[in-house]
Formats: sequence, structure tokens, C-alpha cells
Amino acid sequence: MKERIFLSPPHMGPEEPAFVAEAFASNYIAPVGPGLTAFEQEMAQYLTRSGRDGEAHCVAVSSGTAALHLALRLAGVAAGDRVACSDLTFIGSCTPIAFQGATPVFIDAERGSWNMDPALAVEWLDRAAAGGRAPRALVLVHLYGQTADWDPIADACARHGVELVEDAAEALGATYRGRRAGLLGRFGILSFNGNKIITTGGGGMLVCRDADDADRARFLATQARESAPHYEHTTIGYNYRLSNVAAAIGRGQLMKLDERVQRRRRIFDGYVQRLGDGGAVRFMPEADWGRSNRWLTCCLFHADEPDAARGQATRERVRLALEAENIEARPVWKPMSLQPVYAGVETVAGTAGGTGNGTVGADLFARGLCLPSGTQMTDEDLDRICDVVRREIEG
Ligand SMILES: *Cc1c(COP(=O)(O)O)cnc(C)c1O
Repeated sequence: MKERIFLSPPHMGPEEPAFVAEAFASNYIAPVGPGLTAFEQEMAQYLTRSGRDGEAHCVAVSSGTAALHLALRLAGVAAGDRVACSDLTFIGSCTPIAFQGATPVFIDAERGSWNMDPALAVEWLDRAAAGGRAPRALVLVHLYGQTADWDPIADACARHGVELVEDAAEALGATYRGRRAGLLGRFGILSFNGNKIITTGGGGMLVCRDADDADRARFLATQARESAPHYEHTTIGYNYRLSNVAAAIGRGQLMKLDERVQRRRRIFDGYVQRLGDGGAVRFMPEADWGRSNRWLTCCLFHADEPDAARGQATRERVRLALEAENIEARPVWKPMSLQPVYAGVETVAGTAGGTGNGTVGADLFARGLCLPSGTQMTDEDLDRICDVVRREIEG
């Protein structure tokens, strides 16, 4: 059996163990320490590097989900509230809504970017607000490294007093109209889970515009401990802080982020060169408002046929053929509105363009596949993968 090609495995260099050794030498193992503060500052510098985008205040935490929970708490989301969220996403984008006792409303994707449909979102926000039922917050996800169309949704949220939270867990290094993903609004979240574009072996970050928000988040992330010599508490907090050792890994990873984005984009191009873009295989488009980090190379099978059944069958045949060759590939995220745990939840759906699949997200899920995109992949790996895909779509 040939060596396994994973979807998006960690990619470490010599810098990471050096930073970890520094943490060990200083005995700042956990939780906080100088490496953690440095990681937060280095991320803030990365996000604000253009000098045009104002300040960033970063809070490193144990996961992207934890960062999103803090964002919703700071945004004032409370029991009984409604929170809108992208429908086509990973569940970490919306579980914190339930942590706060609030109810999600899922908004469908658009074909152009696979992200939340801005026209649908704006129309629904206007309608909900007119009926006195505006959500407290909206979580806007940047899928697979491509930013969503932020501005029209941000305008509508501002008009109706809805807090907009940016889920940039998959999109670190991507841009929207020249601005960096993660820094578009008052709160952004990043993830350093094992398969993301950079990893700390598990971790996340809350990015705040405002230093006071970041201070409050650090307070809540460390059990809401008041400043007193004893343990004094006036509110409920969480144990969410990232460890100093994990932050050390993140510092090494961050140094290479730009290089990793370039490499992921080159891998995407390598797939397109080998398989072509159109006909049986169509790749995730890149919207004109930004530059994707191409975290994962994703494609649709038989995207142009009205009925998704053939695309779905091909998708599954390709996935299983890859698995038989010890190559990991995964279907596109299954929309939240189709998840049993969210049965009956309100969904704002577009017409899937007559696909018979209900929503656009459901159609992308049916036909879509994520291909291996790790930055250590070789041209030979790409050849090996594309030979299998070609064989299955031709056969
Ligand atoms: C990975 C991910 C998260 C959650 O991050 P964790 O660090 O795994 O908790 C949230 N949203 C999206 C879109 C993600 O891909």
C-alpha cells in the first residue's frame, strides 16, 4: 500500500521546536507566559501589516469554537436570542450559539463564493427587523479560505443593530477588498486546529478591534477571576486560555503563513492544470472581492447538470476510489440545516437554481469534494491523486 496522503496534515519546520524549547527552558509551560503574549502580538502585527486597517487585539484560546463562544458572549448574545449563521459550514461555527442558550437561523450559500448569499441575508435581515425580530448577532463564515461578501451584510447588520461576528477559522491569510480576514469587524475568530492552514495542535484566537473587548475576553477565558489576592468571582467564566507551549508552536507556524498560502494556491492551480476546470469537474470559484488562501482545494462533479444525482454519484465514486488508493478526500461540509441535531431550525433558503436539491448548500454538499491540500504534497502526489480522479470521471 502506498503512503497515505492526508487531506490537510500539520506541516512543521525547525522554528516550532526551537520556540517550544524556549518555553521549556523558561519553565513557562502553562497556561500563560511570554510566548503566549508574543504569539498574540505577532498575530496582531500580521493582521494589521498594511497599516491601513487600524488596530487588532488578539486573545489566544484553546480552540476556534472557544473563541467564537467568547465573541458571542461579548456581543451580548443571551438565552432566548436568535443568531443567524452561514448554513454551509463546520458545526464549530454555530455550537456556541447553543452554549449561550440562543437559537440559530441558518442562511443559505450562493454559488459564486459558496459563502452566505448576501442578497438573501440582507433581504431576510430587513424583513426580520421590520417584524421586530432582528437577530442579536450574525456569524459570517469564510468557507475553505475564501472570504464571504462582507460589506453588504455588514451594512444591513449595522442598520439593524445586529452584531456581526467573523468566522475566519478557515481563512487566515485570505483578503476581502484588500483587508485581512479575521479583522473585518469588531470580532473575528481564527482556528489552529490540526488541519487548518497553521496549527498549534489545537487552539484558536479571538481578534478584537477594541482593547477593552480583548481584556474582557482574557478575563472570561481565565475563569473570570477578579483582581484580588484570593479567588474572587462576580460572573461565570471559562477555562479557555491557550497554553504557552501551544503558542510556541503557533509562533513558528505564523512565520511561514504567507509561504503556506502561496503553496496552497499553487496546489489548487496544480489540480486545475491536471483536471481542467469545466465539464465533469468544476473547481470552487474565486470571488473578485478577495484572494482566497485555498485552504482546501474543493470541486464539484457535473456542476452544470440540473439534477445533482449524477454529480453526487461521481463524487462518491471518486472519494471511494481515492480511499482505495490510501488518499483522504472528504465531501464538502454538510449544511447545518440538514444535520439531525438542527432538525426543525429556521433556514433561509435560496432556490438551488432548479436542482431539486432544496438549497444551494445542499447542492454543493451533494456534488462537492475536498481534495488533499497539505503544503508538503509533491507534484508526484498531485499526479497520483489526479490519475484516480480522471479515471473515475472518464469511466
Ligand atoms: C475549524 C473551524 C471552526 C472551529 O475551530 P476549532 O479550533 O476546531 O474549534 C469554526 N468554524 C469553522 C468554519 C471551522 O472550519
